[in-house]
Amino acid sequence: MNLLILGGTTEASELARALAGDARVRATMSLAGRTQRPVPQPLPTRIGGFGGVEGLTAYLIERRIDVLVDATHPFAARITANAVAAARRAGTSLIVLLRPEWTPTVGDRWTHVDDMAEAATALGPVPRRVFLTVGQKDLLPFRAAPHHQYVLRSVDPPPPDVVPPYAEFIAARGPFVEAEERRLLIERGIEVIVTKNSGGRATEAKLVAARNIGLPVVMVRRPPAPKVPTMEGVADVLTSLHAALPRGE
Ligand code: NAP
Repeated sequence: MNLLILGGTTEASELARALAGDARVRATMSLAGRTQRPVPQPLPTRIGGFGGVEGLTAYLIERRIDVLVDATHPFAARITANAVAAARRAGTSLIVLLRPEWTPTVGDRWTHVDDMAEAATALGPVPRRVFLTVGQKDLLPFRAAPHHQYVLRSVDPPPPDVVPPYAEFIAARGPFVEAEERRLLIERGIEVIVTKNSGGRATEAKLVAARNIGLPVVMVRRPPAPKVPTMEGVADVLTSLHAALPRGE
């Protein structure tokens, strides 16, 4: 079975580890190329965009891909839409992995907003110390709220032209643990967190820490989910793939 995994997430890497070495599967990992040092993969890896729906459709046909697995981030809406359209055009089976959203629980103080511009506004007129964990692609709107002091965290340093004026940068890659997140929030005097509703366990610890110390969170809602069936976890994807594979080879 020829498989293409659209990756860039913890789940995609988990899937790659589970499939590597399975002689029945010839799987390729595809990364957008956003990070300077991507997590090494146990599968052959291609890096960079395909050139929209046309490019991805051509790739699926030329490489005779049997199953396309979209295991990209819930906020990576464009590539998911492209995957849905290209799989349809190429007649390739499609599996979309969409991890469940985070939902608030007792003690959480979340303000839900639709996008980054609204998140910047929600921080209010009074200067605050903000832990901004949105990724470098989404920093620009916070330049419109330059009166806050930001602590930014992402895998690579963001380009200076998107960073708000008062910002400290921390380079880090998840998974994160609650005790360290709590220490970071307290040591930096953080008053509010801004995050996307990414879901998943790798970056959830900051929310548990915020709950435990009573910090408010500005939670950016997800873009609309694709209008195709989705699977919540790697185990579901593996079950579905294994069901399609020949037995005992
Ligand atoms: P996006 O806005 O949905 O995609 C923009 C373009 O990047 C796509 O049209 C495609 O280019 C290319 N692309 C995206 N993912 C790709 C992949 N896995 N392989 C090859 N090309 C890809 O995506 P994004 O939000 O920039 O995210 C880029 C990558 O970072 C994704 O792999 C995603 O899983 C990962 N990531 C994103 C976030 C986030 O918050 N957005 C967080 C963590 C990880 P072409 O049209 O030229 O094919």
